[in-house]
Amino acid sequence: MGIVVCTADLFPEHVDRLANAGHEIRLSKDADKDSLKPLLTDADAIICLLTHAIGCQLLDAAPHLRVVANVAVGYENIDVPAAKERGIIVTNTPDVLTESTADHAFALLLAAARRIPEADATIRDGEFPAWGLRQPLTGIDVHGKTLGIVGMGRIGTAVARRGHHGFGMPILYHSRTRKHDLENELGARPVSFEDLLTKSDFVSVHVPSTDETYHLFNTEAFAQMKPSAIFVNVARGAVVDEAALVQALRDRTIAGAGLDVFEQEPRIHPGLLELHEHVVLAPHLGSATVDTRRAMGDMAIDNVLAVLDGKPPLTPVS
Ligand code: NAP
Repeated sequence: MGIVVCTADLFPEHVDRLANAGHEIRLSKDADKDSLKPLLTDADAIICLLTHAIGCQLLDAAPHLRVVANVAVGYENIDVPAAKERGIIVTNTPDVLTESTADHAFALLLAAARRIPEADATIRDGEFPAWGLRQPLTGIDVHGKTLGIVGMGRIGTAVARRGHHGFGMPILYHSRTRKHDLENELGARPVSFEDLLTKSDFVSVHVPSTDETYHLFNTEAFAQMKPSAIFVNVARGAVVDEAALVQALRDRTIAGAGLDVFEQEPRIHPGLLELHEHVVLAPHLGSATVDTRRAMGDMAIDNVLAVLDGKPPLTPVS
């Protein structure tokens, strides 16, 4: 049967599934090229995380490789054209993480608007500000405010549904293609990027990281947003010019941000760490629930088992 090199920290039941199907599993905590190359010489499959770069050098070190299964929906860590040239299938894990990631985006949106981390820190510092109409931790309303979605795909749609059904928010969206069904379901309005920036109270970004979306949110974009607006990013750090975001928050060009992803993960722009008011930071936790991570591992293994069994993959990357 096949040899599966695995740099992802799979759950035990995932490893059992591969073993029960008769495959040899080579677990590698270390995903750097030098450690991986010797494991790959006779490997049929790799299961990897989005923090593991799979480029030409590794693909060339694996002449028998048939499939690279990324345990993530984004796949910018894999050189997909190079894999295609070599006849290697690349798969990802869409859909199973959509609702959890949308929950997280909304959690960040609410936490930034209502200043939950600041409130928590205040109490832990031994303070309890007196109840007052204008007490220091007053926040920004979410219900009924306009939610702008940039990238109306699976996760963008799930966030828009939460905003519409849960919080009565009018929805604006900017995407590459019109979403007539969602316009009917949610009353969502398609607008230009500029209109979305100027009219939204909350801007939530859900585009993939591509050459086209690199630094989509830059100084000019933040300058067009409302000074009361909150920016939410659970997509990818590269979509945002982080230095421009820090400046926009410092200058109060925008009011706040809820961020799950960063330009140089795991490094965070030092300017972001100094900002607390309406600013909430999370270490890339979008899909991080136990159920969803289990489902992502299962989907990666379903893909590997299918390909090694000579069947088409379930979720190939095109
Ligand atoms: P998806 O269904 O493919 O949605 C992406 C959407 O972005 C699509 O609707 C797409 O266009 C739109 N888009 C692409 N390029 C665009 C551009 N230049 N301008 C405007 N819209 C553009 O993907 P998804 O499953 O929702 O995931 C989205 C991203 O979220 C992933 O790529 C990943 O990077 C990120 N993510 C992060 C976490 C986390 O842990 N923080 C978890 C999961 C995913 P159309 O209009 O043509 O449909």
